[in-house]
Amino acid sequence: MDILLVDDDQVDRAAIIRTLKKSNLDVYIEEAITVNQGLELYSKRVFDIILLDYSMPSRDGIEMILDIRNEAKDSGTAIVMMSTHEDENIALECIKAGAQDFLTKADISEKKLRRAILHSTTRHDLEKKLFQTYQQVKQLAETDSLTGLPNRYFFDESVKLAITNNKRNDHILALLLLDIDNFKLINDNFGHDVGDLLLKKISTKIKQCLRGNELFSRLGGDEFAITLSNLESSEQALHVAQRIIKAMQEPIEIATITINSTVSIGIALYPCNGKTSEELFKYADIAMYRAKKLGRNQICFFEDEMQQKFHQRLEIELALKNAIEKQQFQLYYQPVIDPINESVTGFEALIRWNLDGIVRNPDEFIEIAEETQQISAIGLWVIEEAISTLSKWNHNRRKPLTMAINVSAVQLCDFTVVETLDQCLSKYNVPAHLIEIELTETALFKDSVTSRQILIGITEGGCHLSLDDFGTGYSSIAHLRNHPISIVKIDKSLMPVDMHDIKNTTLVKGLVSMASILGLQVIAEGIETEHHAQLCKQLNIGRAQGYYYSRPKTEYDIEKTYF
Ligand code: C2E
Ligand code: MG
Ligand code: MG
Repeated sequence: MDILLVDDDQVDRAAIIRTLKKSNLDVYIEEAITVNQGLELYSKRVFDIILLDYSMPSRDGIEMILDIRNEAKDSGTAIVMMSTHEDENIALECIKAGAQDFLTKADISEKKLRRAILHSTTRHDLEKKLFQTYQQVKQLAETDSLTGLPNRYFFDESVKLAITNNKRNDHILALLLLDIDNFKLINDNFGHDVGDLLLKKISTKIKQCLRGNELFSRLGGDEFAITLSNLESSEQALHVAQRIIKAMQEPIEIATITINSTVSIGIALYPCNGKTSEELFKYADIAMYRAKKLGRNQICFFEDEMQQKFHQRLEIELALKNAIEKQQFQLYYQPVIDPINESVTGFEALIRWNLDGIVRNPDEFIEIAEETQQISAIGLWVIEEAISTLSKWNHNRRKPLTMAINVSAVQLCDFTVVETLDQCLSKYNVPAHLIEIELTETALFKDSVTSRQILIGITEGGCHLSLDDFGTGYSSIAHLRNHPISIVKIDKSLMPVDMHDIKNTTLVKGLVSMASILGLQVIAEGIETEHHAQLCKQLNIGRAQGYYYSRPKTEYDIEKTYF
């Protein structure tokens, strides 16, 4: 039997070792005189028992018990506590902390020590077994045996906990209820074994749509539930639901059978739909029922307003799909002006979407186009259209005009942007230095190897890179330094309201001088008033854009006004 004896008192240690040797037990003893030394020995080998002194200088015996019992892997060593004083309270404290027995030093005899050691090891074995059984029962009580997912009981408890946690940080929590469409038919047609396998495969599929920090559970039958906590917006819940609907489009193979299965998803949100888990369940269920009624294989929010927003989004997403073929996009052009003489130096191309006679601005569709990757194709269309128009406008012009083209972060994933730029420049015979590619700082944040190479590709081809909306987001100098940017566009929101707006005036001044130190050109955006135009002149800002000079106009109107 391997024994670790921890006691600072040498006389006591010697007495205990003597008693142990006489006890007829076959013992191997290691000694420590402090808790830390004891813990170190304990970490190096497995002992059957620790004989531990209660009172020691610096750290006492209880601390050692707590350290050992709180370790992730308690190696199962029994602990007998020893104290100089007989004290019921101390004895109880030691047992509560995780010791198996308590002896008063004065009472220690061979017989008592032997009995304490044997009882403690047996007791500790039993305690361990009990704990394992408890863990197994807990696991069984909380897990769905078919899929291995948490079951309804665990889910309910966790939703309550998640609501309590979310209360503190006023984020949104979403409860998604998922029900497999026509599952009964599958069970009836192919039998319960196939039904069970299908449930397992579907749960794996759904898991793959999640990041891992969500709570995903099988509530029973063909019903699953997910909670998403700490959301900034309801759209995030929508994204997850959409990923699941999309993943389900792929047929599932079970032996020789191919099953096309779909799910209906209902979503309720905390705190706007309900404040308790019961309410959330009820509302998510109502939403799910509506998804079924509307023809299954779809997502429904509990709230009408949310539902409407979602439908509008869906409509835009669908309509965007063939907007290019239907020639619904159009570029508007906003003149870029030299503030000194108010002459036009070039234009910025700004996209519009003409859908059913209504002209939509970019903020109504660019984000959706980015999320659905449709921006890639749209972006290429913009490049060709803008360059061909510039070629026409610069024809026979002594001082050629520039063209600024907005490019989205999503377009920095593949090299077609660079290729299309090069092709269009040679096709329409436009010198590259007339083209300014505008990016926002979020695009630079991605900073992958590919995006970096794309930016280098753009500038090596001779086009300029321009940082749009500067002064709104991160306005990081590192971005200006680390990327081949030659132009900054000071965002319209920084334009001073009037001459008394010292704060913004100073800010614009600061940005302009910083840009000039870094050798960057400046374009001021949002010039709406005479005062703004004067400020541009005063600060020697080379170029400016804004309603004061001109709103963005169609190609036709630009030609009518300027050529
Ligand atoms: P941006 O590149 O910063 O474009 C300037 C926006 O400010 C334009 O809005 C323009 O109409 C507006 N604006 C111009 N002068 C003034 C002014 O004096 N006052 C005010 N309040 N606003 C002014 P628009 O056309 O709605 O475009 C919004 C944003 O959409 C653009 O911001 C750009 O980031 C994006 N965008 C536009 N066209 C494209 C495109 O072809 N591709 C991509 N990826 N994004 C585009
Ligand atoms: Mg722009
Ligand atoms: Mg801008």
